[in-house]
Amino acid sequence: MKKILKTSLITVGVVVGVPVLAFVGMFLKMNSEFSEFTPLETGKITENIFVVKDNIANVFIVKDSAQYVVIDCGMNPENIAEQMKTLGVNPSDVTAVLLTHSDSDHAGGLSLFKNAKLYMAKEEVKMLNGERAKFLWFGNAISRSDYTLVEDREKIQIGNLTFEGILAPGHTSGMTAFLLNDEYLFSGDIASLKNGKLAPIPAFFDMDTEQAVKSIDIIRQLPTAKYIITGHWGYTNDYQAAVKK
Ligand SMILES: [Zn+2]
Repeated sequence: MKKILKTSLITVGVVVGVPVLAFVGMFLKMNSEFSEFTPLETGKITENIFVVKDNIANVFIVKDSAQYVVIDCGMNPENIAEQMKTLGVNPSDVTAVLLTHSDSDHAGGLSLFKNAKLYMAKEEVKMLNGERAKFLWFGNAISRSDYTLVEDREKIQIGNLTFEGILAPGHTSGMTAFLLNDEYLFSGDIASLKNGKLAPIPAFFDMDTEQAVKSIDIIRQLPTAKYIITGHWGYTNDYQAAVKK
């Protein structure tokens, strides 16, 4: 009887303990990777491109006369609303939101932009419908389903702003950079920036690291680009230096 009890306790210990330890390990690893992120403080990048700091990620706002376009919308709507107030931008004046991908640190703040049309890469739908997952069976979820899908190299015209979607998968299935007016590349989580140069992001966060690293070359071949503006690692206004290997 004693032996059965002992065996049962060990079994329960393993069944409960291993997943708990794995979870704690993941959590610690994630936090140590987050501490390497270098998001920008809330402010301006150029006269018409604003940045909001939301915990670990940046939200970008492009001004076009009376309307604004947001690229990635962070995860904390209350914080973003507060930060936007300091920039004098009203979330209800945002007419479009472009998502580089559907991870919660880029799409969790969607509810703040109620008047905005939502754009996302066609390939990113796979992250939402269960076809592809970041980790095990954990898919992504966003708070809206009325999105307009963007094909690779498709151009979207919003007022005087032209955004070209550039598909560079790996981090997620539809990871897409948006090139604004041929010059400003919003690169989401395709690459990090280290000492002014593009570098892979921590593999821990990728759906497919090999593909993600290959995809960095896609954004190295944009001859008109001048700025690279990343999701977590700041920006550079020296595109040529950033893409040089
Ligand atoms: Zn991210």
